Amino acid sequence: MNNTFNYVCCNQSLSNLKQSSIADTLAPIFPLDYTYCLCNDLVQQKSEDDQFSITLHVNIHTEEEANKWLNQFHLNTKTTMRVREKFKCEGTKVIYKKGYRCHHNTRPPGKKLHDKPSSKNTNCPAFLSFTIRNTNITRAKNVEHIKQFPMKIRLGFIHNHPIGSVEALRRRDVSEETERTFIEYFEQGFSPKLALEAYKCHLRMEFGERYDEVACDRAFLPEIQWCYRLYYKHVKPEDRVKRNYLSLDIPKKTLTVPSTEDVKEDLQELSNAFDCLARKITAKMHTEAVVDFRPAVQTFIRNVSSINTDSCLLKSLYNFADKSTKTLKRKNDNSNTDLGIKYVKVQDSLIVDHDYTES
Ligand SMILES: [Zn+2]
Ligand SMILES: [Zn+2]
Repeated sequence: MNNTFNYVCCNQSLSNLKQSSIADTLAPIFPLDYTYCLCNDLVQQKSEDDQFSITLHVNIHTEEEANKWLNQFHLNTKTTMRVREKFKCEGTKVIYKKGYRCHHNTRPPGKKLHDKPSSKNTNCPAFLSFTIRNTNITRAKNVEHIKQFPMKIRLGFIHNHPIGSVEALRRRDVSEETERTFIEYFEQGFSPKLALEAYKCHLRMEFGERYDEVACDRAFLPEIQWCYRLYYKHVKPEDRVKRNYLSLDIPKKTLTVPSTEDVKEDLQELSNAFDCLARKITAKMHTEAVVDFRPAVQTFIRNVSSINTDSCLLKSLYNFADKSTKTLKRKNDNSNTDLGIKYVKVQDSLIVDHDYTES
């Protein structure tokens, strides 16, 4: 891996000594797989020696590359910069421009000021912006500089809070790499819980003795709620049933995803089961048992029509006519017993509820 800060300098007033001192400051912070042009001096903030602002250029040509740079920057600095504004670039000179604020500044301009008070918001003044110039332009006076270093970076590394503290790390955004790993787990059929366990094992292997340190950094190790949110965002409801409800909690024989043929067969049997049930009920409704059956049938119809979530449907399927559920005691004085309620023995372990779905 590259571990030197590659740079040139277009600013005549910066001595060699000054240049290498800037490079030393930037090396631990900036992604190193690029070449930078030191166009300006560092602006040092007061006496706090690790704080500075700088404007420089880098050989980045596209939004995608800029995002990659930003991810690396987040990892290096243990900070999280959130988008403050994205500019429309309709002219010919600039093709991309975006401004960022620190995530400890939760009140971006334009947002109302009476947000709930939060220990997270320190009104941190740190800032970052990217401007990518169009390299097809031929008439600008510094064409060569633009072509070599199309992106301008303005960075105010002036956080007003500790950036490596446990509190700050706990509040970081989950990194893109972590997110990608989780999506891969989900694609393999892991549930959120299993994915998190598997991921912790992976971190232990990768970081060994440094695991505890890494584990309090949310960029590396997200909380279970985040896993659920990502899961609901990425896994379609029908796949959730196929993969996770089954793979997590049902005995091993159903671990594999069934073939299309098997599903077809199941559906045929389901249809047969409905027909058979309807025939039985129809027969009863034509006898004196109709007195008992009619209220039960009406309740059943009501309950079926109120099924509106996957988890509710699953509960109903698992519990319908399950002999292990409480049997109905017939009450002589009240034939309107609510079958729905009596029959519900929720197999909680089977149901991952939708609590974490993001609004
Ligand atoms: Zn320059
Ligand atoms: Zn900050």
